[in-house]
Amino acid sequence: MAKQKNTDKAKVSATKGFTKRFLKPYGGHLALYALLTVFSVFFTLTTILSITDFLKILFPPEGTQAVAEASADGYTLNYWLNKLYFWLIGFGQSKAVMLFSLLLCSQYLLKNLFSYPSIVLIGRVRSYVVRDIRNALYAKIARLPLSYFSASRKGDILSRFSNDVVEYDENIMLSIQQLVIAVVTIIMYLLMLLYINVKLTFFALLLLPVIAFVVSRLTRHLRRKSTELQQRTSYLTSLTEETISGLRIIKSFTAIDFSNERFQRFNQSYTRLRNKIYRRIDLASPVSDFLGNTMVIVILIFGSYLVFNHDSGLTPELFITYIMLFVLMINPAKDFSTAMSQIKKGTACAQRLDDLLQTPDTVTEIVDPQPFGGLAQSIEFKNVSFAYNAGTEVLTDINLTVRRGETVAIVGPSGSGKSTLADLVPRFHDCTSGQLLIDGTDIRQYSISQLRSHIGIVSQDTVLFNDTVAGNIAFGCPGATQQQVEQAARVANAHDFIMQLDNGYQTNIGDCGDRLSGGQRQRLCIARAILSNPDILILDEATSALDTESERLVQEALNRVLANRTAIVIAHRLSTIATADNIVVLDHGNIVETGTHQQLIARNGIYKKLVDMQSFR
Ligand code: ADP
Repeated sequence: MAKQKNTDKAKVSATKGFTKRFLKPYGGHLALYALLTVFSVFFTLTTILSITDFLKILFPPEGTQAVAEASADGYTLNYWLNKLYFWLIGFGQSKAVMLFSLLLCSQYLLKNLFSYPSIVLIGRVRSYVVRDIRNALYAKIARLPLSYFSASRKGDILSRFSNDVVEYDENIMLSIQQLVIAVVTIIMYLLMLLYINVKLTFFALLLLPVIAFVVSRLTRHLRRKSTELQQRTSYLTSLTEETISGLRIIKSFTAIDFSNERFQRFNQSYTRLRNKIYRRIDLASPVSDFLGNTMVIVILIFGSYLVFNHDSGLTPELFITYIMLFVLMINPAKDFSTAMSQIKKGTACAQRLDDLLQTPDTVTEIVDPQPFGGLAQSIEFKNVSFAYNAGTEVLTDINLTVRRGETVAIVGPSGSGKSTLADLVPRFHDCTSGQLLIDGTDIRQYSISQLRSHIGIVSQDTVLFNDTVAGNIAFGCPGATQQQVEQAARVANAHDFIMQLDNGYQTNIGDCGDRLSGGQRQRLCIARAILSNPDILILDEATSALDTESERLVQEALNRVLANRTAIVIAHRLSTIATADNIVVLDHGNIVETGTHQQLIARNGIYKKLVDMQSFR
């Protein structure tokens, strides 16, 4: 229990750090916001004082002609205000009413002249903070190693990016805005109350701990429950994302009812938890309303006692002003307690955002990296091991040399570690032990961006962006001319089908979407790799069955791309394997066989078995 409390405290302070970090650049804005709020509250206060005093002077109780003089002893502000009102009354009662109305009007005007810019200012700060958080998250996502993004994490990250940022804004940022107003109002009203009567105000302050205790009981557990709620929100996003990307399968397996039911069941439990949390947050307002009004009654009793006994200079008029101010303090107090519970709720989001931002970057660049101008001799894996999760090695003690100009094919059963091995070269992950050398230097010594700029990747999942065909081919080579793009497309056997699209190279891929076949998509990706003309090519061949014509076109394109290039090919097609300079057979993360196609067939081992299986298929 105590441990839980400590970790809770640690989390809350980490979250405060998060908010502080993002608010820091806007400290000046916040100070100005507080100052404008002070002025706006000041003019609200003066209008309240003016109305009571003026009515008192306009309709003086019998036998109290010299109110001004009588009040002068204990309450100088009142004395000067009264002087002003008497001066106004000197113009005659109806004129005085007119003049006083003008005075009140100008006070309201001033109040709003200060409150409007303050609202605009804080609104800006909120948008800027949200913008900065999103930028930081986006930059972080791009920096994180690929191994971080397992399928289940995708929805969670999307949810942090959308839901958590919005919730953070609506809970913490909005509450900070309300807190500033509430605190400024409460302090100024309290000062006024102290000014009117110290004894009565100290008595009122004695009751405050009771309220604080009740409100803190109310907001207990809110943070933990909210963390759970945010986790469920992210699971909802994951479910939706999974459904959209798997819609083809869901429909074909007639699993729509099952998916619907699963979603609705989860959504129901999510809604139940959400209602539970809001029931508590919404309780803060009526509870503080009741407590505040109870305080007013207690003060009425104690104050009347002071008035009756002529104690501490409290006159009936001052007492009425006092009570009025006190009643008016209840609303800001209510806002204060609501804001506090909203903040508790919001810390869960802040925590989730901070967790993502604080995820260590496992792939980092050294302080003074060596420039990388391209591959001169070889890529060498030296006793390389790798584990995604500590303790479970996916690659064990890999020793392999890929010489410049060679094509090395990696084969092996699914899950044997082929993609992981290839991902080590562009440093999508770093090996857990051992070394990966390029031209004799550990790749961690090189500048990451320069290293990656010399590596081209054609992956199995043909990644195309919502852009034109030309834009997709030139991705990564923004300076490429149309001629170069076309040249690359021709080499990749893509030019002919591109010309048949509605707008040729300017056709938006998003628009044609599914109209491109698997083979066409692949050829676009090959064109992209050709255009960037990398020294090292990593090719994760598609397993999807292409028709014979498509396969011929893709294979032709690949052969052209592989010629005179250093390539690591995760091979699925026999045709590529047969021409490779070296074939590496992986099994459970270990190299079990190496050699050329003929050598390995002669050896009659795992490779031969894989080849036989493929031929059979
Ligand atoms: P292959 O390319 O040969 O099919 P992979 O390199 O993709 O194999 O995967 C090798 C092993 O690593 C598999 O057991 C797989 O489950 C595991 N693996 C792959 N990616 C991740 C990841 N992001 N997090 C944890 N384990 C992973």
